[in-house]
Amino acid sequence: MYVDIHCHPQFKTFIGSEHQAERKNCWTNLNYDLDFKILDSQSSLSQLVNGQVKLAVVPLYALENVFAKAKLIQLAAGLSYNAKKRFLQKIEREEYGYFELMQADMNHLLSSANIAADKQFTLLRAGSQFDSNSPHLQIMLCAEGGHNFYDYGQRFGQTQKVIDRLLYFKLPQSVRLVYITITHLSHSEYCTHAFGMKMLKSNAFNPQGRGLSNLGKRFIREALSTTNGKRILIDVKHMSVLARQQFYALRATEFPDAPIMASHMGLTGCSWQRKPVCKYKYDKKEACYEVTYYRQPGVLDTYFNPWSINLYDEDIVEILLSNGLIGLSLDQRILGCGTPAKELVSPDEFKDTDFTTIAEPRLHQLRVEDYDDPEEVKTWHLRHLCNHILHIVKVGQPKVGNRVWKQIAIGSDFDGLIDPINYTTHAGAFKFLFGGLVEWLPRMAMYAGVDLAPADVQQVVKQVIGENAVEFLKRNI
Ligand SMILES: [Zn+2]
Repeated sequence: MYVDIHCHPQFKTFIGSEHQAERKNCWTNLNYDLDFKILDSQSSLSQLVNGQVKLAVVPLYALENVFAKAKLIQLAAGLSYNAKKRFLQKIEREEYGYFELMQADMNHLLSSANIAADKQFTLLRAGSQFDSNSPHLQIMLCAEGGHNFYDYGQRFGQTQKVIDRLLYFKLPQSVRLVYITITHLSHSEYCTHAFGMKMLKSNAFNPQGRGLSNLGKRFIREALSTTNGKRILIDVKHMSVLARQQFYALRATEFPDAPIMASHMGLTGCSWQRKPVCKYKYDKKEACYEVTYYRQPGVLDTYFNPWSINLYDEDIVEILLSNGLIGLSLDQRILGCGTPAKELVSPDEFKDTDFTTIAEPRLHQLRVEDYDDPEEVKTWHLRHLCNHILHIVKVGQPKVGNRVWKQIAIGSDFDGLIDPINYTTHAGAFKFLFGGLVEWLPRMAMYAGVDLAPADVQQVVKQVIGENAVEFLKRNI
């Protein structure tokens, strides 16, 4: 049984047209036959079912304005069809508000809930409704980006109106949201975001400001409160490191029983006091500090991506101590498979969050011929996932004991414009992940110095790929 706590089965078919009647359903696999695989379906509902995924947590998401402009997204929206581009142009011209787009996105997904005997899914409103024997895919919802709740088209107007939109989702008759990531890849009014967009260029992707805003704090409080309806968890993905630190402090004093969600993460592999910074400079044009990193070595021949969008060791501990859940992304870049590009950091946060340079770490010698062979690359990518699992265990075990093994899950981010690891390029390939992890996790554990008895391997892998997420959702949602 596989569970994916973060994937976007409706995204690519949603942007294909402005009108629901013209959109392809979410079971459709889009294949453009381009070199650029990023645009092909990665987690259509058919692919999820084919990959033996029993439960998926799916974000509702209004396409941010800055994305609508991007050629790449326009390509994804239907390639040669000029008519389809109109939808994105209208988003760009602010003819659609974000809340409206989020509702349309949800309706698009739900309209695929039952279109044939073999194309059905069940929408769950509580973790306890999950049935591992159900013949159908089961789906829970969440939201990606606080911008979805803006009250004035694509802009933030009044705090109370934004909060009212959030509270709507806490009503007993509304659909249930598992968690909300309060910010995303472009500027939002809730908090500073962590830089995460290197493919597209725009200043809207550059982090600004300093941590949580008043709106952000109020939003978090209302989401976590249990006196105004059911709790919606806060997902720390996309928050800047300073915003995360401020959130941890707020949670510890006001909502100490609320687990922290981190839904589609990678790790930096280091402490936030010892980032592998090679050099930095202020870039006037970008209005940001530009930080160049060394690669951060992991176990065997793997690396981490040290961008602050990924979790530092202190983040890992904080999440584990809160009884939270870390979902690991299957994005190559996030998992550290490539050389890290430069990161942009908000000038107002730069000093608080310490980007002191360090000496170059000892890097692995990679044998080029091995990393050219497609089969070798596949397993090398898989080893990056193993490296992440083991790093969480290594950092977490001294703090929470063996419970740490129950706090790791998969949040692939498929169809979130990612370039997935070659071992698992789409949800249909999930079914091979069990075997791959059973083979590689114990081998890597030896190098990592993590105790993993041969008799426990299969059980631990089952937990990570599915059971942990189910138990977490049953306990908390
Ligand atoms: Zn995301």
